[in-house]
This record gives sequence, C-alpha cells and structure tokens, in this order.
Amino acid sequence: MGMGVYVSFSFRVLVNAEAMNAVESLGNIIRHRKATVIVPRGNSHQVVTVPVVSGEAIRHGYQFELAKLAKVRGIKVCKLCEQGEFVKHGIEDLISKLEPDLYKTLSSDDVNLRDKEYAIIESCAVEDIAGFLVPMRNVQIKRTSRVEVSYMIPAIDGLKYGLDTQFHVRHAPQAQQALGQQGQAAQPQSIYYIESASAIYTFTVNIDLTGIGQVSNCIYREGNDIKIDCNKALDPSERVRRVELALDALAELIKRGPIGGHHSSYSPHWLPGSAVALITRPIPTVAYPGHYTNFIIKTRDLAEGNRALLGGNYAYVLVAFKDDKVDPGVDVQGISEAKYSIPEFFMAVKEIALNWVREEFGVK
Ligand SMILES: [Zn+2]
Repeated sequence: MGMGVYVSFSFRVLVNAEAMNAVESLGNIIRHRKATVIVPRGNSHQVVTVPVVSGEAIRHGYQFELAKLAKVRGIKVCKLCEQGEFVKHGIEDLISKLEPDLYKTLSSDDVNLRDKEYAIIESCAVEDIAGFLVPMRNVQIKRTSRVEVSYMIPAIDGLKYGLDTQFHVRHAPQAQQALGQQGQAAQPQSIYYIESASAIYTFTVNIDLTGIGQVSNCIYREGNDIKIDCNKALDPSERVRRVELALDALAELIKRGPIGGHHSSYSPHWLPGSAVALITRPIPTVAYPGHYTNFIIKTRDLAEGNRALLGGNYAYVLVAFKDDKVDPGVDVQGISEAKYSIPEFFMAVKEIALNWVREEFGVK
C-alpha cells in the first residue's frame, strides 16, 4: 500500500438572502435549518441559535457537480447520479432493471465483497469519490466517502448573522374570484412565508485523495484461504483523472454555491471571502475552521508543529485565498502561496496535489 496524500480545506463565504437549507413547512412557513452554537463572550461562553446549512445539503450539491463534470469529461457515472438522484445502487429493483450486468456481479454468492465494491467504483466516479451503501439480500456492500464535509455555520468571531421571514404571495385575484366558493380550496391566490438567512459562513472539506479509485474492503476468501489485500484499484491514470475531478467539482461548488433548494427565487448572494488548503502526506491534517480571522496562520502553525512533532517524513504545502473587499480582516501575513481568485487558488492546489498523487501512483 502506498502512502496517503490528503487535502483539507476551510472556507469563509459571505452569503446574503439565502434559503439554501429548508427543513420543514409549518402551515405556510418554510423554515431555514438552525443549530445551537457555543460562542466565547468575555470571560465565559454564550449559547446562540443560528442559521446553518447541513453537510448533507453541501454533499448533495457537491455530488451533482461531480456527476456533471464527470459526464463532460467522459468519466464513468451511473444514470441515477447523472440525474442528481443519489440512490447509489441502494435499491435492488433499480439496479436489476437499469444495470443488469452489474446486478449479476453484486448479487452473486461467488463474488467476494472486495470485487463487488470494485465493480461499483469502476461503474460510477461519484460513488467512488463520495461513497455508497448497497444493502443486498445477503450482504451489505459499503464504501465510506473519500470526502468529508462539515456543516456550514456562521463564523463565531463577532458572530454576524440575520434570519428573516419573507412574505410572498402568488398574486391571482381574477382566478380567485372566478372560482368563487371553489377558490377557497384550490387557492389560486396564496400567501406563504420563506425564512431566509445571511451570514459569514464557514465550513471544512477533507479529501482522501489517494483513497480514490482504490477498494476499501480488503479481506476476502479465496478457496479455503482468507486473504488481506487493499491494493485492488483502478488504472493509475484513471485514478489521477478522478482526483482532478474531485478537486474541480469542489472548485465549482465554491465559485457559485449551488447548494440546497429554492434557487429559482432565492439564488444566494454568494461571495467567497477567504480559504485555506492544506495538502499533506503521509497522514491527514484537518485545517482550522474559519471562525477567526487568523485561521490561515493557525493552520500553517499546526502544519509546522506537525512537521516538528512527526519528524522528517511529514510533508505539507499550504495555499491561501483572500478577497480583501469581502473578508478584509483575514490575515495572510507571511503566507507565500496566497491567491486572490478562486480559480487561481484551485489551480495552485491542483498543481501540488496532482504531482504528489502521480508520484504515489507511479504515473508520469
Ligand atoms: Zn452513481
């Protein structure tokens, strides 16, 4: 087994008037997701309820970007993922009808778990990168996501957020009047409320780059022997393409914020403010979340500390992004790789990450 290459990102994004994560309808009110957070205040802490966006909502947006880019690039992606429906081979009836050949492999008693996982990875890059759980009648085929996503929550330093309930009406007085009594039930004219939020949000994304394209179920039976082998993987050059796909899909997400619903009338005012990317090998290091304006410096200090603590074989490269207008307080003093646009930031991350991954996979 090779050594791992990992990348951890933290972002700060100024988002205004968004309804990215609705959780329930109470009568005619559509509510925004909320969570309780603990915030330092003076010599103590305070409990505050704030708007948040779930990791699930971010994952869904990310997976859709993966599927769209994969299709454009001729990388394999299954029909349901392509449609943005991430059932991921989780329903037997759908696999047996839509992908009969794959179903034969997954339902066979003669194929071990490792080879079943491989068959799914091979057939769909979204499921390779973002994991799946396939509950077959006699066995569960499981792959943990190579990508971890946190909740998006308001930065707690200075904690600035707003929550409003916006009044909306579908205006149809003529139709309402024409229907008379019937109009009471059909309600061509209706009143509803959508809760919208604004905040400086922060969230973190971790990617196990060298885990992409490689099986995670390693123990299997061969005749009377039990074997362990985690080296079964896709062709190295295909793995490099998929690592690039994983990073480019995240870049799409950060550029535009295609997260959650309500984009037809609540497309968020999405302004990336600052970010840090920490690329490490052979062990992962999670970047500091962007709650304080020194999160980039803190992440660099953490990586420097790790290098001293872990000795010679720990390597890291740090890349920062900052938009001075959107996130003026963020400190990038002494950071050599500081970029001032999201494409430039991701180009720099990709250059390092893909070089390291190529070395690991033995690809020139
Ligand atoms: Zn799929």
